[in-house]
Amino acid sequence: MSETITQQALRALVDEWIGAGTKVAGPSYVKKDLCQYVPLTSSAELLLEGFIHPRNSVKDFFFPRHEKIYEYTLKGHEVELADMTPASTPQVIVAARPCDTAAVAILDAVFNWGEKDEFYTQRREAATIVALACVTHDSHCFCTSVGIGPDAEKGADVMLLPLDGGFEVRCLTEKGKTLFAGRTQPSDKTAVIPEGPKVKVSPEQVRAALEDYDNPLWKTATLRCLSCGACSFTCPTCHCFDIVDEGNAHGGCRAKNWDSCQLCMFTKHASGHNPRNVQGQRQRQRTQHKFRIYPDKFGEVLCTGCGNCARNCPVSLGILGTLVELCAEMPKTVGESK
Ligand code: SF4
Ligand code: SF4
Repeated sequence: MSETITQQALRALVDEWIGAGTKVAGPSYVKKDLCQYVPLTSSAELLLEGFIHPRNSVKDFFFPRHEKIYEYTLKGHEVELADMTPASTPQVIVAARPCDTAAVAILDAVFNWGEKDEFYTQRREAATIVALACVTHDSHCFCTSVGIGPDAEKGADVMLLPLDGGFEVRCLTEKGKTLFAGRTQPSDKTAVIPEGPKVKVSPEQVRAALEDYDNPLWKTATLRCLSCGACSFTCPTCHCFDIVDEGNAHGGCRAKNWDSCQLCMFTKHASGHNPRNVQGQRQRQRTQHKFRIYPDKFGEVLCTGCGNCARNCPVSLGILGTLVELCAEMPKTVGESK
């Protein structure tokens, strides 16, 4: 037995959410061949079928690329401060990829570690995430290598699985149950779990390979990197930001802006010294952080195998290729790939 919804009924429900003033976002074509998660004005914009892999990630809706923390006004020798109220407007993210949804659950740990980031947590509390299982994948996908898969429920409030022109609806949290209450129909069918990409690397083997900190691979395999930062800006789990004052003699704001460990200024000291002054060192840092440093602190890898870093890289240098190359040098007994 399962609960189901037709595609038409789902679209009608999305339109109801929009009509009720809820911010709704989902995958949509913003131009030919460019799919992104965007705020929707109508369910007609929402992609629900075929290969859907937005070039950005769901993190944009919880951790925007630019966010004011407070504004300041200079009046003579006085400074007036005005706090920004964290946004708590209800929002629904619909048809999120399981690799993006899982990433939000990973980010929850970071933004609630020590001091809570109220800007993130209030958006998160006001949001409901409706994931859509993947029925197809491309050569960049490797979710199954990092412990998730095309129907992974991590981070989702509801999971939709394609079934007979509509969807099986699995409500996973109270928020999810509330959102779909009375809108599903019982069925004696259940969706077939889609097959994911074959396992391509093992995190244990990657971790073992990363023990060789001075591996010459960092000087060769990543030479073509342009230091553009596209990989980290479109990565659902990368979360670095910088806090900067943006203003003039009259006032301005203190803002939180996305940053990237792939940019040359990221670690540049005021003295002019840069401990990561070549691109190979920055690539090594990103990989070390995702597969060794972050797991040591939070107990899971900082990668969901979404493949965005490869899809968005102007020189086709995604993390998967680097991991495969790293592991190719390792003895097969360490965390053997299935
Ligand atoms: S490192 Fe690449 S594959 Fe892993 S989550 Fe980030 S963008 Fe996706
Ligand atoms: S997207 Fe590619 S070229 Fe740009 S910083 Fe990342 S690896 Fe380098």
